Amino acid sequence: MTDLRSLPSVDHIIQTDSGLAWVAKYGRPLTLEAIRQALEMARTEFRQGKQLPDHTRLLQNIDQVLSLWVTPTLLPVINATGVILHTNLGRAPLSAASIQACMDVAGGYSNLEFDLEAGKRGSRLLHAETLLKHLTGVEAALVVNNNAAAVLLALSALARRRGVVIARSQLVEIGGGFRVPEVMKQSGARLIEIGATNRVHLSDYEAALAEKPALILHAHRSNFKMIGFTSEPELGEIAELCNEANIPLVDDLGSGSLLDTARYGLAHEPTVQESLAAGADLVCFSGDKLLGGPQAGIIIGRAELVNRLKKHPLARAIRADKLCLAALNETLMHYLKDEAEREIPIWRMISASPEALKARAETWASHLGRGDVTPAESTVGGGSLPGETFPTFVLRLRLPSPNRFMERLRQANPPIVARLDEDTIVFDPRTVLPEQEPFLLKTLTTLITHHTRRASA
Ligand SMILES: *Cc1c(COP(=O)(O)O)cnc(C)c1O
Repeated sequence: MTDLRSLPSVDHIIQTDSGLAWVAKYGRPLTLEAIRQALEMARTEFRQGKQLPDHTRLLQNIDQVLSLWVTPTLLPVINATGVILHTNLGRAPLSAASIQACMDVAGGYSNLEFDLEAGKRGSRLLHAETLLKHLTGVEAALVVNNNAAAVLLALSALARRRGVVIARSQLVEIGGGFRVPEVMKQSGARLIEIGATNRVHLSDYEAALAEKPALILHAHRSNFKMIGFTSEPELGEIAELCNEANIPLVDDLGSGSLLDTARYGLAHEPTVQESLAAGADLVCFSGDKLLGGPQAGIIIGRAELVNRLKKHPLARAIRADKLCLAALNETLMHYLKDEAEREIPIWRMISASPEALKARAETWASHLGRGDVTPAESTVGGGSLPGETFPTFVLRLRLPSPNRFMERLRQANPPIVARLDEDTIVFDPRTVLPEQEPFLLKTLTTLITHHTRRASA
């Protein structure tokens, strides 16, 4: 075609068989928009000296635009990185019971805020609170959108326009823009920094009491480790001091494990139970880190404090939704029934033995007819146990243009995220869910064939 006038009209295109099929599949408004866009593009390119597309090419362009627009951007992926709580990959996968609970409340109505016995308004907080009380023995509990929000709420409700004492070694940045000093500023609390970067003493805390702080905040360092000339008082000692001064001790645990990670050959991560036993008045932790549930911020502790948080206007703005609460309840139930290690995916991953992982990697290698199985290290990730690794076995593939192959893996359906170590592509079975294995192997078989054919061509 050599003339702009030879381009068909929108009306003409929408009456073609393709046009009618698009309308049926994508709806009329979107189809019209795609046709207009494809025509506009053809005109622009023509003015820049390019040829006008022929009829077939034009229809193909429209079809491409439409399928691109309706492709979901949020997709499940296969995590072969060996990083269990991979924040970029959505942290904790949910247990089967948690998924079922989400589905049960998602498609219909629920008693989210309805007291079935009394037949009147109830509280959405009740569901998780009952379980959390039972599990940890606390007086009260509150669930919000995430742990960043939990800390913000605690500081806003308890320390606005007042001082909050925190050690300099705990003024951390967690990632994704969560910085303890900035959250404090946002809450309206005044930062009272104590100690040096590497060391803080009980006497520093004692001295800071002269400034009449609203509370003492203790924050887990989460994603970095301090080694060398360092020291910090025990949480119990700080709690005692708070008790004498009659101010609350708020412990931001970050990951907040209910199980002892040391049982699995990892370093010990402070548990929720320990924090409470040490005397923390409020403990905040994430729902989707070592708890292994949905994204949530959990606040537990003394009723008088939790109630002040519940009544704060911010609590309404950051409340947890019904899907989160449904999933969280089932996750907590696994702990209550002492079946967490068996039912919660991240604990299954953490507790998987190197021998079992080796056997899986070997099955993969023999299925593919290539690759080496070698010892390697998995990590917990997600701001838990920084620098800690634990032994695993991985499948290593040596292929030409490994970066290009990694890219093809990411474009697969479902996308596969692996690790590149030097020039070998590494797949850690620890984080690959068993039900994803057939997809992984099928995709690998296809991609390897194409990749090596292209590379040798
Ligand atoms: C991860 C973390 C947070 C933020 O929790 P989210 O649930 O990701 O919002 C806050 N404090 C600490 C110490 C953390 O490790």
